[in-house]
Amino acid sequence: MITNIQGYSIHDGPGIRTVVFFKGCPLRCQWCANPENLSADKQIGYLKNLCHGCGRCMKACRYAAIMPGDGYRIARDKCVSCGECAEACYYGALVRYGEEKTAEETFEQVLKDKMFYDSSGGGVTASGGEPLLYADFVCELFRLCRNAAIDTCIETCGWAPREAVEKALHVTDHFYYDLKLMDPVLHRKYTGCDNERILGNARYLAEHGADILFRQPLIPGVNDTDDNIRRTAEFMLSLGPGASRIQLMPFHRAGKTKYDALEMTFIAEGLKPDTAERIEAVRERYIAYGVDCSISK
Ligand code: SF4
Ligand code: SF4
Repeated sequence: MITNIQGYSIHDGPGIRTVVFFKGCPLRCQWCANPENLSADKQIGYLKNLCHGCGRCMKACRYAAIMPGDGYRIARDKCVSCGECAEACYYGALVRYGEEKTAEETFEQVLKDKMFYDSSGGGVTASGGEPLLYADFVCELFRLCRNAAIDTCIETCGWAPREAVEKALHVTDHFYYDLKLMDPVLHRKYTGCDNERILGNARYLAEHGADILFRQPLIPGVNDTDDNIRRTAEFMLSLGPGASRIQLMPFHRAGKTKYDALEMTFIAEGLKPDTAERIEAVRERYIAYGVDCSISK
């Protein structure tokens, strides 16, 4: 189940890349910027600001799931996510999130940009959501990529069965690996899951020589504390010299529109993004601990 295949990305691995976004995630981070990738099911989003009130969607829906009311409303209990309303809408006010694809179809699509990968040292990145929920699919896609000399990268939250990580290790050139919070109680509080499995899988990858770039969404007042920075740095350094890079990803509220479209609550909406000075201060703390730290653009 894929939400998007996005070309020309320069932030999701080396060089120019195509990013395949998988739908479904085991975590529920309160600051998540991609709420459309949380559920593994197909969904329909309604963008009220694009709606012209023509009513074509209501007529198109065979399940009587669209009703007037402050623009239009989707009765989520009736909607089967067939997407016919989105087909009927001339204005792009209804968005389908989630499409079933095979690994071969996905490969055919990503292959089209091979010349960009070749000229930039880029490749294909599996992201999400959590791509390791679909480990067999990702491995098949990456096998096809490798046969075509295309570089492979996974962006993962690390909360996956060990077998999935083992499989991926054999076909993945780079792991972009989230380390959100070191305290297990706080990790559970803010993400819905504890971090034991995440840290264990990171250690496993480091011990097996994987190329890892850790990433940390920097959430004001949640994980930008001295305690979390120190514990994250200590954990990374305990993994050996091959796993001592971390990239900070400053908090932003860009996902708010999608929360509204899906009628979901954005818990972190009230958080104020860190200032550039504060982000730089966190970077310097990591560097002082001996960790190679950069800031995501
Ligand atoms: S078809 Fe599109 S523009 Fe027309 S009422 Fe439905 S959502 Fe709004
Ligand atoms: S996705 Fe299908 S069932 Fe859901 S509102 Fe649109 S047309 Fe109706």
